[in-house]
Amino acid sequence: MARERILIIEDEARIAQFLERGLVYESFRVSVAADGQTGLAMARDNPPDLVVLDWMLPGLDGLEVCRRLRAAGSVAILMLTAKDDIKDRVSGLEAGADDYLVKPFSIDEMIARVRALLRRAPPASQPEILRFADLSLDTGAHRANRQDQAIDLTAKEYELLELFMRNPRQVLTRDVIFDRVWGYNFGGKSNIIEVYVRYLRQKTEIGEASRLIHTVRGVGYVLRED
Ligand code: CA
Repeated sequence: MARERILIIEDEARIAQFLERGLVYESFRVSVAADGQTGLAMARDNPPDLVVLDWMLPGLDGLEVCRRLRAAGSVAILMLTAKDDIKDRVSGLEAGADDYLVKPFSIDEMIARVRALLRRAPPASQPEILRFADLSLDTGAHRANRQDQAIDLTAKEYELLELFMRNPRQVLTRDVIFDRVWGYNFGGKSNIIEVYVRYLRQKTEIGEASRLIHTVRGVGYVLRED
């Protein structure tokens, strides 16, 4: 199995080295960029499987780098931030980050997050087209389609939508969604599920298309016809 390629974009040499050592020890192939421009160029020339991206960078900041990485493709993005503030997390998620780590963190915690993000369903030998109402999801291409409009999804958006499509008309609790999509719990205050449901609604409710992902107040969400 090919070893996964990870790009670290972090200007603080001490932290970059700490991350690099930890990841190399776990047999990942690691490269390091000390600023956003360099990181973007490296990602373009040699696309990584995952980017560990620091929020505070000189020049282009982490949010902008995140937006540009996301615009260029579907690479997994783990953001590092010193700000333990939910508003910052949400703006990072809106810029396309898949997950967060708040400094200081342990190397074990970072490795666990990296593995959770890289973990994918074993390559489907038989890609399927899941269908619900007028929405379809191609499990091979990781793309959705509604009313003949192709919908591009980020890695986490895809996983969340696949979970709904495989469990239609069943109420999924927040705990189940955390466990199945993120692999761990963010804690009671996190609104990451709300943020991702909002993205999916924006992407799937095109034009006159009706709502398919409904909120079940105080419980979770359900995929059903309006
Ligand atoms: Ca930094």
